[in-house]
Amino acid sequence: MDINANEIESIVRSVLSQMGGTTSSAFSAAPAPGMARVAMLTAAKQFEVKEFPIPAIGDDEILVKVEGCGVCGTDVHEWKGDPFGYIPLVLGHEGTGEIVQLGKNITQDSQGKPIHVGDKLVTSVISCGHCHNCLLHPDSPQLCENQGVYGLIPDNEKNHLCGWFSTHIRITKGSTFFVVNDLSLEQRMLLELAAVTTHALEQGKKTGRLHFDSKVLVQGCGPVGLMMIATLHVAGVDSIIAVDGNAKRLEMAKRLGATGFVNFKDQPTLEQRVAAVKGMTMGAGADFAYQCTGNPGAASDVYKYIRRGGGLCEMGFFVNNGECTINPHFDLCNKEIMLVGSWTYGAHEYPITMAFLRRAKAMGVPLEELITHRFPLDQMNEAMETNLSQQGIKIAYVAE
Ligand SMILES: [Zn+2]
Ligand SMILES: [Zn+2]
Repeated sequence: MDINANEIESIVRSVLSQMGGTTSSAFSAAPAPGMARVAMLTAAKQFEVKEFPIPAIGDDEILVKVEGCGVCGTDVHEWKGDPFGYIPLVLGHEGTGEIVQLGKNITQDSQGKPIHVGDKLVTSVISCGHCHNCLLHPDSPQLCENQGVYGLIPDNEKNHLCGWFSTHIRITKGSTFFVVNDLSLEQRMLLELAAVTTHALEQGKKTGRLHFDSKVLVQGCGPVGLMMIATLHVAGVDSIIAVDGNAKRLEMAKRLGATGFVNFKDQPTLEQRVAAVKGMTMGAGADFAYQCTGNPGAASDVYKYIRRGGGLCEMGFFVNNGECTINPHFDLCNKEIMLVGSWTYGAHEYPITMAFLRRAKAMGVPLEELITHRFPLDQMNEAMETNLSQQGIKIAYVAE
């Protein structure tokens, strides 16, 4: 009779529970040498910490000891109900750690920097190389139909170490990874989020409607909106209007560079909010707007804040939150709004993002304050609940 690892695990679990112990108390100390731990999503709303032997690292592989990983909206979305159908899997794609083993065939990172044991590493997205977009539009790798990333790969018997919610992760040659020794743990955990907004900045610039003197409105002050505000501020935009319903988040928006504020709790009607925005823009409306909420009503409203001849970047709907209504006459045609979408980023934008993070640090922008809650591996269910409750801003797993 074959007994697979899952069955062994359940036998161990039942023996432990008969002894009065639990799996998690058995896992309270650090993993034994040669062992790695992962927080595996085994059912909706159920992370289980599992321990596996660290596999032999081949000539084309890297073993990283994980230091931490940001919790992304995508992780929470998958945790809530497995919309991608990936269970079981190890989530976490905003991770970073230190190289502890390096295969001899790997001598440089994805931008050609030499790579060594002891270096700090982050991973980025991986394009398939063979879809229509990869073949014919390789300048837009974010539009790959099969874009992959560590942390969104279904678990398999050959490799359990393929997500960052773990003590160790195995990286393979052919994927994308960058040495980032000069960035702090917080900066490295925010790098992926910052890549999203760095890409959105580039998308906004394509409209020709985003300039140093633009009055830019950012709707939604969750992690994406707040990082967008910081990105605009560091890029040199002086006038940034933040729209949100949470006073604490608006306060954070101010610390990151926002100069005008609309709290929709205080101004519940669209007319009031439009009047407030016009009051801050010489009666015209915003020159440019970033829509950073996943709310269909907000996605409709945003057009009303923009002046005739302005621009808009829609980046809030990373998942399908439904449809919204616009009036093509008033909202688009008559206003000649230049509208652009923004979807993730390409790995080639990581070096640009690192430059943004360094510049933000030099300017004293307190980006690291975006990380408000830190959880160990055995509390990832709590981490997801905390994200959903919107108590904090950015939640992170930090290794013990
Ligand atoms: Zn993410
Ligand atoms: Zn592709």
